Amino acid sequence: MVHYICKGGCGGSSEEMTVCEIDGCANQWEMMEECNCADGKHGVSEVAEVLVVKDSNGTVLKDGDDVVLIKDLPLRGSSTVYKRGTKVTNIKLMDNPDEVDCRLGGSAIVLRTEFLKKV
Ligand SMILES: [Zn+2]
Ligand SMILES: [Zn+2]
Repeated sequence: MVHYICKGGCGGSSEEMTVCEIDGCANQWEMMEECNCADGKHGVSEVAEVLVVKDSNGTVLKDGDDVVLIKDLPLRGSSTVYKRGTKVTNIKLMDNPDEVDCRLGGSAIVLRTEFLKKV
């Protein structure tokens, strides 16, 4: 459906052809521009795809979060086993939504989020 949007920075939109009336908008009292978008984004605010990383419960994880292990995890190539319940602080997200980067026992390791629970 055709609608009209203000490109003066106020983010205004209208279903009728009208002027922007927002105080302080760069295009105040100027005609809004016709737009035909169907998604309500007006083709301007291209939102970058956000990487969403979730723990085993589906809780969203962020950089700097603390998590605990929900199962014993053997460290590949060594006899070390990180025990269930071990707390891991200050995780770092990576490009892969299934893994996070962290330090544990002085080593930099990568953990799969399916074995983590946010605390
Ligand atoms: Zn405006
Ligand atoms: Zn639009």
